[in-house]
Order: sequence, then C-alpha cells, then structure tokens
Amino acid sequence: MSAETVLAVKQLISRRLPELNSLTVDWFGGEPLLEPAIIRDISEFVLNRKSRYAEYKSNMTTNGYLLDKDLLSELISLGISQFQISIDGWSGLHDVTRRRVDGAGTFDRILSNLVSAKSTKHDFLMTLRLHLMPSNVKSLPELLDRIEDEFGKDDRFRVHVKSIGRYGGANDKNIETYWKTEQVAAIRDLRSRVSSKNGVGKYSVGGTHICYASKPNSLVIRSNGKLAKCTVAMNSDKNNVGTLLPNGKLQFKKEVLDRWFEGFRTLEAVDLSCPWYRIGREKT
Ligand code: SF4
Repeated sequence: MSAETVLAVKQLISRRLPELNSLTVDWFGGEPLLEPAIIRDISEFVLNRKSRYAEYKSNMTTNGYLLDKDLLSELISLGISQFQISIDGWSGLHDVTRRRVDGAGTFDRILSNLVSAKSTKHDFLMTLRLHLMPSNVKSLPELLDRIEDEFGKDDRFRVHVKSIGRYGGANDKNIETYWKTEQVAAIRDLRSRVSSKNGVGKYSVGGTHICYASKPNSLVIRSNGKLAKCTVAMNSDKNNVGTLLPNGKLQFKKEVLDRWFEGFRTLEAVDLSCPWYRIGREKT
C-alpha cells in the first residue's frame, strides 16, 4: 500500500469519526504480515483516537507463518485480538498446498508459532480454519485429534471447518472441490466427530453466515486504493465498486456497488452468505 493510500485511509477514518459508534478493522492480504509497518502505522492512528469510538475491534486473517511471539505481542498491543489461520492438513498435507515461493513447506513454522502463542498469557482468539477438500478429507479426523491434543485445553483457540470452493481466478478449474452431496455427507461426519469433543463453541463446521460483503457498512480498501466488497473475487470488475480518493473521500460506482446489497433487500440466505455466488455468475 502506497504512502498516499495510507494517508487517504487515515483521512477517511478522521472524516468519519464523528458519525461512528464502532469501528472494526480487519487485516487481509495476500499476507498482511508482509507489511507490519503499515499495520503499525494505521493501527496507532486509530488507537490514538480510540476514546472517540464506543467500540473498536481489529482482526487479522493471516497464514500464521510470520506470527511469532514478539509480533503477536505487538499486534495485541495494537488492538488486534482475533486471528484466523487457515490449515489444509497436518504437516506434509498442509505443505502440499501451502508452500513458500522456493517450494519449502510452511507447516512446522506455523505450528511452532501457534504453540508459542499458547505459551503466552495474552488475551486473543485464534480461529484455526481447517479447509475441507477431497484430497484431505480422510486425514481431517486425525488433524482434529492433533489440534485437540495441542490446543484443546486452551479456550483462546477455536476450530472452524470449511469446504474450499471455486471463486474465480486463473487456477479455478484445477481446484478440486466436493460436489454438494459429498460435501454434505463429509460435513455431517465431521460434525458428529466434532460434537463429541469438549468445549462449547470451540468447534464449528460449515454453516450459513452473513458475509461481510453483503453488509452495507463493510468495505474493502485494497492496497491500490480501489474499493471492493468481496475479499475473494479480487480480479473481477463486478467487485471493483469504487476508489478511495487521496483526500479520504469515497467515490463509488453506484450501479456496481448496489448489486452487493441484494441480500440486505431480499434477506435470502444465498445472497447474504455469499453475494459473490450469484454476482459472479451473472452475464455483464
Ligand atoms: S462474497 Fe462469497 S466469496 Fe466473497 S468473501 Fe463473501 S463468502 Fe467469500
């Protein structure tokens, strides 16, 4: 994110401050922890004005690779208290799909970071998002057991199982997903295993939710200053809803933005849980 866009974000926040009761800042990537200086800069800017909000929350979706104990401590001091980390399998299975640019695996370091986080006294919520796909479904019960052994007694760790899907992009057709019926059966099986585990609310599987993309008061500011609603369909013009101007004002493409509010009008589950599902299939 350029210095100009960082400044525009701050100007946007300053401008909106008088009308906000609460502010939630979610950090996404790519990988947000590749740019800790920007996270530090914007978070400190918000924290210095925190007394003016009734409520301020900050969360991060990260691959966990760079989230060592020191960085975790710093992020928590910056008000970032909830983290979501995706895991595709235990050890080698995770490394099949989650490799570094040089081909090396990432799992051991991510696990070591999570174990370090567990050793701290910090107040955080770490959601381990386990991705369900045909290639790993047989290993997921073992993965759940290993996670239970390592983190089961720590209430700061949660597990959410989610099927992967095709949401667009160059490699979309190469991604193996479940057909709906298989997915339902696999999720049912996992749910019965999960429900036998301890901890109310510690484990969740699939389920319908309201995606932030369908909420009128949620906006993605991209690193280039473009505005979006969905954090997956990053290459589609249908998700290019406007621009953050250098003075912090928002310039919307009203007809493109309006399409994302369909769920808010119809209250239909499909439009609320994933507006991109329909929007992405529409002919332009
Ligand atoms: S609109 Fe759909 S694809 Fe986009 S972030 Fe929401 S659930 Fe994911």
